[in-house]
Amino acid sequence: MNFDLNEDQRLLLQLVRDFARNEIGPKIADYESRHAFPTEIVRRMAELGFLGMTVPAEYGGTRTDYLTLIIALEELSRVSPTVCLITSVHASLFCNSILDFGTTEQKKKYLPPAARGEILGAFALTEPGAGSDATGLKTRAVRSGSEYILNGTKAWVSTGSEADALIIIAKTGGEAESAKLSAFIVEKDFPGFRVARIEEKMGLHSSVTAEISLEDCRVPAENLLGGEGRGAAVALHGLDGSRIGIAAQAVGLSQQALELAVRYAKQREAFGKKISEFQAIQVMIADIATLAEASRLLTYKAANYYDRGLSYSKEAAMAKLFATEAANKIAYLALQIHGGYGYSKEYEIERLYRDARVMTIYEGTSEIQRLVIARNLMKET
Ligand SMILES: Cc1cc2nc3c(=O)[nH]c(=O)nc-3n(C[C@H](O)[C@H](O)[C@H](O)COP(=O)(O)OP(=O)(O)OC[C@H]3O[C@@H](n4cnc5c(N)ncnc54)[C@H](O)[C@@H]3O)c2cc1C
Repeated sequence: MNFDLNEDQRLLLQLVRDFARNEIGPKIADYESRHAFPTEIVRRMAELGFLGMTVPAEYGGTRTDYLTLIIALEELSRVSPTVCLITSVHASLFCNSILDFGTTEQKKKYLPPAARGEILGAFALTEPGAGSDATGLKTRAVRSGSEYILNGTKAWVSTGSEADALIIIAKTGGEAESAKLSAFIVEKDFPGFRVARIEEKMGLHSSVTAEISLEDCRVPAENLLGGEGRGAAVALHGLDGSRIGIAAQAVGLSQQALELAVRYAKQREAFGKKISEFQAIQVMIADIATLAEASRLLTYKAANYYDRGLSYSKEAAMAKLFATEAANKIAYLALQIHGGYGYSKEYEIERLYRDARVMTIYEGTSEIQRLVIARNLMKET
C-alpha cells in the first residue's frame, strides 16, 4: 500500500496547512475561551471549498478521494480539533449520508448549498437514554398524510445549535420491538424543532454541542432519507466513514502534541542541561512519535480501503480505536514533558489534553469499536 501523496494531494495539503496556520491559528484560542462557534472560520472554509470535499462537482462540490479528505482533516486538527470536528460532521455524516442514501430531489436540494457552506449539517442519533445502544431510542416518527410527526429528545448533537439541517434518526412503524429506525433530513425552521440547551463540556469548547427537542415536529414525507426502516443502515454507514475522520482528528492532535513536546524539551533546562538530553524524556518522545505514526498508518489504510471500494468497517474501527486511545496517551506524555507549565492554560498542550479525551467516546466508544472489530473478524473467518 503506497501512501505517497500525489501532486493534487500535496497542493491541497499545503493549502489547508497554510489556511489552518494563518487563519485558524491566530483566532481559535479566542473562540475557545468564549465557547463561541467559529462562524467566521467556517465561512472562510466554505469560500475555499473545504466544506464540499465529499460533494461531487455535479452538485457544486469539490469531491476528492477519501484519503485527501482525511489528510485535510488531520491538518485542521493540528491547529484546531474543534474546526476539524465541525468539518467532519458536515462533510462525512451529513453530506455523505445524503449522497449515499438520498433521492435525486434530496441531493439537488441539500448538497449544492451544503457544498457552498450556505447550510451547515449535523447528525443526531444519540438521546439522553441511548448512546451506544440505538435500539433504545425513544424518538418516534409517525406518518400523518404527507408528513411525519417527530417527538423526542436528541442529545449531544455536535454543531446542533448552529446547523441549518440535521439528519435525525427516529423510530417508525409499530410499537416497541417491531419499530424500525428511519432517518430524516430535518431543517431547523421546521415547526416543533427547538434547541433545548447547550452542553458545558471539558474540551472542544467552540464545537457547540446541543440538546434538541422535537415536539410534534412536522417533517415533509419527502425528507425521509433512504426509505422507511433504513435508519440503522444510514447511521451505521455514515459512522463507518466518519470514524476515519475522527481517527484523522486524533492523528492531527497527536502530531501537534509531538511537535510541542520536542520544542519544549529542547528549550527547557534542568540540572544544567536541556531536558531533551535526558533519556527519560527521549523515551517519552520516541513513544509519542511511534504511536502517532502507527495511528496515521492505520488511518490512511482505512481511507485507502474506502477509496478502493473494499469493505472498510473493521479498518475504520481499528483506526478509530487505536488513534484515539493513542492520542490520549500522547497528550498525557506531552503534557508530562511540559512539567507544571503543561497544566497552565497559557500552554497549548493543556487544551490538547482536554480535547483528546472525548475522541475515545464519540462516534462509538472504544468498547464499541472493539465489538465492531470482533464482529467483522467472526464474519470473515
Ligand atoms: C462532545 C460530544 C459530541 C457528540 N456528538 C454527537 C453527535 O454529533 N451526534 C450524535 O448522535 N451523538 C454525539 N455524541 C454522543 C456520543 O456518540 C455518545 O456519547 C457515545 O456513543 C456513547 O454513548 P453514551 O454516552 O450514551 O454512553 P453509553 O452507551 O451509556 O455507554 C456508557 C459506557 O458503557 C460502555 N458500553 C455500552 N455498551 C457496551 C457494550 N455492549 N459492551 C461494552 N461496553 C459497553 C460504553 O463503552 C461506555 O464506556 C457526542 C458526544 C460527545 C461527548
